[in-house]
Formats: sequence, structure tokens, C-alpha cells
Amino acid sequence: MNRRILVSAFIAAAFFPSCVKKKESQTSRSQGDPYQVTATVGMIADVTREIAGDQATVHNLIGEGIDPHSYRPGKSDIDALQTADLILYNGLLLEGKMGEVLGSQKKAGKPILAVAEGLSDYPIIGGESHADPHLWMDVTAWSKVSEKIAHHLQTFDPVNKDKYSTNLEGYQTQLQQLDAYAKTCIATIPEKQRFLVTAHDAFSYLGRAYQLEVRGIQGISTESEAGLQEMNELVNFLVESKIPAVFVESSVSDKSVRALIEGARAQGHEVKIGGELFSDAMGPAGTYEGTYIGMIDHNITTITRALGGQAPEKGLQGKLAH
Ligand SMILES: [Zn+2]
Repeated sequence: MNRRILVSAFIAAAFFPSCVKKKESQTSRSQGDPYQVTATVGMIADVTREIAGDQATVHNLIGEGIDPHSYRPGKSDIDALQTADLILYNGLLLEGKMGEVLGSQKKAGKPILAVAEGLSDYPIIGGESHADPHLWMDVTAWSKVSEKIAHHLQTFDPVNKDKYSTNLEGYQTQLQQLDAYAKTCIATIPEKQRFLVTAHDAFSYLGRAYQLEVRGIQGISTESEAGLQEMNELVNFLVESKIPAVFVESSVSDKSVRALIEGARAQGHEVKIGGELFSDAMGPAGTYEGTYIGMIDHNITTITRALGGQAPEKGLQGKLAH
């Protein structure tokens, strides 16, 4: 079945709720069985696992090294959304190509939550029209998101309300330690070198939270004159400020970063690749870097060490692979 037929089927399901009911009764679980949560990205799934514990089975659609901005859901993804009891996604247009399938689930009456939207007391970068979706880069923001996820689970499964509160509290304590680690590490980078150049604009929240100036170079087209000029300005800045490293990302092509390094080299300044950062996807499932805390620990530790600051080689908990 092609995607268009599938999508039509979901739109039909939305307008004829009887079809949906039949599907729900097919997937209903017996009492005590874990309920099914489907999340789009790993960062949401991981936090949900921490809070839900044994009460839920959590599945994420977009895995290691995959860019959520351009991800198009396949048949198995649509099945996973269809059979889920709860759906969690980031929102703020992170999952740009999934709007239609997520929307049809919402219309069908499934409990679905955009975890990064409508956070109280947290200023979103870019304003309403160009909201930056990469909230997980600020640990404080993701702690607020974890609270929102916990409330959602409590509403869905009020019997286990206290368990979720306890799990949330424990997890938020770990997040506070991570946040403090990030602040301490970044502050050890010599002030003139607190400048983070990456392939795409995923790190603005990290920059704001931990006082790093951030520049993403995707979107600066090297084929237009304006793009070339911006690229040259960035190269000049790297050379003049003696920035020692720029970074590649696990889910984005490193072409533009390499062009930058070549440019600096032509002016006699050696910029190295400071390491690969996790921007929009975590590391391999089952590893420390495949958890939210491990992902951020890796990023902070890698950035700090490459820019001349001090951080333990194996990170906050001694668990990093490098
Ligand atoms: Zn991104």
C-alpha cells in the first residue's frame, strides 16, 4: 500500500470513528500489562522510559543518526502510531514531515502530546513564527519537559500517579547534576574561545544556557554570493580569534564544516574537528550515549575539551566511550 492510500485511510478513520474503535479493541491489553507509548525522537522516549518505569513499553520512531527534520514516516511507523496508547512528539515543527500522520491520530482522539510546546516560564528561541525546536540542548528545559511528560502519564494512568512522581523526582535530580556539570565545564573554556561552530542550527539553547556563542553553518549556501561572503566572514573570525576546533554532527552531513576548515587552512590557521556531537538524535541504543543524559554528557565533555577547557575524559559519570 502506498503512503497516499495509507494517509487517506487515516483521514477516513478520523472522520468515521467506528473504524478506530474496532482497531482499539484489537489492541486492548489485559489489566497489568504495560501500555504502549510511541515517541518520535529518542530524547523523548528515553525520558519517558525513566518516568514510566515498568508501567509502559516505550518505542521511538526516529533512531540513531537520523535527521528528524526531513524524516518521512513509513508503514511501520504509522502502525506504531496506530497501535500506541499514547503518542509523544516534540512539536515546534521538529517533525516537519510528520504533521499529517500526527494530525490524523489527534483527530482520531488518541492521547497525543507535543512535549516542547506551551512550556510555562520558558522562553522559546525564535519566537512564535520561527520557533527553534531543539529544546533538549538546555537541560533545564528538558527537565521541564520531563515534568510535562510525567503529568501526561499521570492523567492517562492515575492509579500509578505516585510512582510517576517518585521517578520524576529521581530523574530531575540527575538532570540537575548534569546541568551543573555543563555550567562548570563550559566556564573553564578560555573566554575568547567559547565559540561553537557546528553543521546546523541545533545548539542555540545550549549556547544560551551555558554561555557559548553558537554558529550553525547549514543554510549558508556556498553557491550564492551572500553565502560565500558569510562563509568567508566565519573563516576570518576563526582565524582571528584562533578558534581551535569546529564540530560535526551525527545526523547532518559534514560537508560545510570541512569547507570551513579548508578556508582557515588557506589562511594558515589549523582548525581541527573537535569531535562529533549528537544534535538531533542520540547515540546507539543500549549505550550510555544512547540515553539523554549520556548524549548531553558527551556533547558538553567533547566541546569543553576541544575548545581548551577542562572536563574529565570519560565525562560526568565516567561512562563515556571515548
Ligand atoms: Zn535540528
